Amino acid sequence: MKYSYSKETECLNEVDVLVVGAGPAGIGAAVAAARQGADVLVIERYGTVGGNLTLGNVSPILGRVSEGTIYDEIIELLAQNHKDEIPVETRNGKEIHIDSEEAKGILTDLLFRNNVRVMLQTSVCDVIKENNILKGVVVTTPCGIKAITAKRVIDATGDGTVAFLAGCEYKIGRESDGKTQPTTVEFTINNVDESRAIMCFGGSDPVKLPNGKKYSEFCKECEQNGILPRNVSIVRLHRTFYQGERNVNATQLNGIDSLDPIELFKAEAELRKQINSVIAFLRNHIPGYENCMLKTTADTLGVRETRRIIGEYIMCDDDVEQGKHYDDAVVHNAWFLIDIHNPSGGGQAEGHSKMAEPYDIRYGALVPLGVENLLTAGRCISGTHRAHASYRVMAICMATGEAAGIAAALSIQENKCPRELSAEKIRGVLREKGVQI
Ligand SMILES: Cc1cc2nc3c(=O)[nH]c(=O)nc-3n(C[C@H](O)[C@H](O)[C@H](O)COP(=O)(O)OP(=O)(O)OC[C@H]3O[C@@H](n4cnc5c(N)ncnc54)[C@H](O)[C@@H]3O)c2cc1C
Repeated sequence: MKYSYSKETECLNEVDVLVVGAGPAGIGAAVAAARQGADVLVIERYGTVGGNLTLGNVSPILGRVSEGTIYDEIIELLAQNHKDEIPVETRNGKEIHIDSEEAKGILTDLLFRNNVRVMLQTSVCDVIKENNILKGVVVTTPCGIKAITAKRVIDATGDGTVAFLAGCEYKIGRESDGKTQPTTVEFTINNVDESRAIMCFGGSDPVKLPNGKKYSEFCKECEQNGILPRNVSIVRLHRTFYQGERNVNATQLNGIDSLDPIELFKAEAELRKQINSVIAFLRNHIPGYENCMLKTTADTLGVRETRRIIGEYIMCDDDVEQGKHYDDAVVHNAWFLIDIHNPSGGGQAEGHSKMAEPYDIRYGALVPLGVENLLTAGRCISGTHRAHASYRVMAICMATGEAAGIAAALSIQENKCPRELSAEKIRGVLREKGVQI
């Protein structure tokens, strides 16, 4: 059944740059565009900013990029109350802990200080498009539906929602069968006995239990004999800023459509049950965790992978595996493992995460095909399933956001659509800011 619906609605004044989504990428984009002199408005569907970094309870910040980007600035701000903290180095690289509660205030202040306006509790539900020009978006607000026009729009929704609504082409999941990485609700526990408790960064961590057994093997056994939920074959235990606390990345549900709100609720119900099972596993089987308590859980379940919007350039497996460099790079020396949480089982796909080499992200990966005035940033940029598994981490998302923000502002100043803007101009601004590129 279909309904047709039409309504005249108020159109808010045109802004220069409209950023949709206030996650790591959207914040990077908004601040960078504002610093280029643009009038910037951010639309965020939730009640606070930060995306996965705050509401997803995701910690640590992983990945790295060349020196001088907004990532350096943001992690310094997030560490301002924890100056003595030494980041943990693992196979994951440098793990930057965050306090997601503190981060809400710090990131809000960063936007505020840079004169970025933010509309909270506001979702983009449609676009205003004339031919192939994106004129603006339609949003749902606590006061009903409104329209907002903008000279440039940056899709930092993670899901590529704006680009999808605008009719851009996209891919979902791995090339062979379309399956995506699983969803997870991250949570934090406290009351852990530091004198005895292990940490674990992932399935390839060789850490052992006091009885000499490899912890990752023990997790696998517990998954097989039903002590841990199905496919939860590794319980990652990350340190936080605070003694006796761990951020737990473990719950897992495969095979749900993370763009279907009804399925999202089913996943939410299952994953929140899994939290209790994982805590019982820790209390009953892992030394030092006998008295651990649940401190916080993510406000929203974490979605690792949905749409990858096809751009002028598609970041490919070789770029990431061989560490390719390009003259039109707008993010330089990005690095993280190819971290594919198994789309069809427990642990990692391909046995374990594969190494990547520091690589460049080309400007074309942020410029969707077919629609003008639109850029992407964060996990929805253009790339293959395996390349995405590396650049999806928060450090790299912040840097793609910064590049998209600069591109949006510059393209207005030069009166060109983003596709016509030379990457060298963006690189020039990045260099002026001290970014090694
Ligand atoms: C369970 C899990 C664990 C992870 N672990 C790590 C880790 O340890 N370290 C790491 O660095 N990365 C990790 N990641 C990856 C990382 O968190 C994400 O890939 C990253 O946050 C993506 O950033 P983003 O800004 O593109 O999207 P998001 O962080 O998802 O932000 C998107 C924002 O857009 C908003 N939005 C979406 N649609 C709309 C709309 N229609 N209208 C208005 N607003 C909208 C959302 O509310 C959100 O605030 C993990 C991801 C998950 C799911």
